[in-house]
Amino acid sequence: MRDRFDRPLRDLRISVTDRCNFRCRYCMPRERFGEQHTFLPRRALLSFEEIERFVSACLPLGLSKVRITGGEPLLRPGVPALVQRLSTLGVETALTTNASLLRDQAPLLADSGLDRVTVSLDAIDPQTHASMADCTIPVETVLEGIEAALENDLGPVKVNCVVQRGVNESEVPALVGHFQGTGVIVRFIEYMDVGRTNGWSPGQVVHSMDLLKELQREFDFVPIEGESPSDVATRWAHSDGSGEIGFISSVSEPFCGDCVRARLSADGHLFTCLFASGGHDLRAIIHDGGAIDELTDAIAAVWSRRTDRYSEMRSSETSSLPRIEMSYIGG
Ligand code: SAM
Ligand code: SF4
Ligand code: SF4
Repeated sequence: MRDRFDRPLRDLRISVTDRCNFRCRYCMPRERFGEQHTFLPRRALLSFEEIERFVSACLPLGLSKVRITGGEPLLRPGVPALVQRLSTLGVETALTTNASLLRDQAPLLADSGLDRVTVSLDAIDPQTHASMADCTIPVETVLEGIEAALENDLGPVKVNCVVQRGVNESEVPALVGHFQGTGVIVRFIEYMDVGRTNGWSPGQVVHSMDLLKELQREFDFVPIEGESPSDVATRWAHSDGSGEIGFISSVSEPFCGDCVRARLSADGHLFTCLFASGGHDLRAIIHDGGAIDELTDAIAAVWSRRTDRYSEMRSSETSSLPRIEMSYIGG
């Protein structure tokens, strides 16, 4: 089953909550996600059983990977139980987390069959971390979470760092140095115009090639071949074999042509693009609990009409369209 541009559905990101204990300024700025913000009520969230049905319904369409995300997924109680249900279906399972709760949950997650963990970390420097994440959870807690992931073999562990001009560029070599030789792969992500609350402007984006040039003054890197065309990162290895880094250049080198990814919000809306103006409300059919084939047909109907390629078309015209927030749709 392919969309209008011949792209299969291989990868599903599942948001299990829209809440978070961080307020990263580029994702959930406190002015917009403060006390007054209305999050999804508990009763609106898909149950783990419903998420499992949804994933089962995607299998005949070619789905092979799921990533549990949010909001902060580990705030939702019982994520290891969800992972266990999904791994039993035979899909590869991954988790994206801010790692604030990972130290305690890593052993249970490992037992549940989780294949991989990605931790978001934008700075090693405590002050820069505190001001970017706008929270009181210290960077040490995140680093302990990463350690716990390594100790429990939740690998290969990746660290994602969103780079913002004038905010954390100086953290880039520090992160590379910190994780060199540890087996952790650090990937630098171009700051994206997701949602409508972060005040994004093109001038805040640091292009991956400029970052690489800067890094090459200090480190010696050699390019590595990507594993598959749908790999979103370009990969570079330390020439002495002490590890690798990656760049996700969603702004300067969009990869819509190979985008095989769908997103399911915590309350059962299916999104076919990170920059979608709206989702497809599949709640009725998910809650219905009827035959799985009906759900498969509904997902196939959405996917087969898909024409998204926002990043390739990014312009002043597209940037004025409404866009869903990343904490809701699942990053
Ligand atoms: N809370 C979890 C975390 O931070 O890992 C999972 C959800 S978060 C929305 C997923 C990823 O989206 C994080 O790695 C975050 O850095 C990234 N992200 C959020 N807003 C972004 C933006 N405007 N541009 C690029 N990446 C962004
Ligand atoms: Fe929370 Fe993740 Fe968004 Fe930061 S990036 S505010 S940790 S959901
Ligand atoms: Fe996929 Fe949309 Fe991102 Fe393009 S902009 S890579 S279609 S999610």
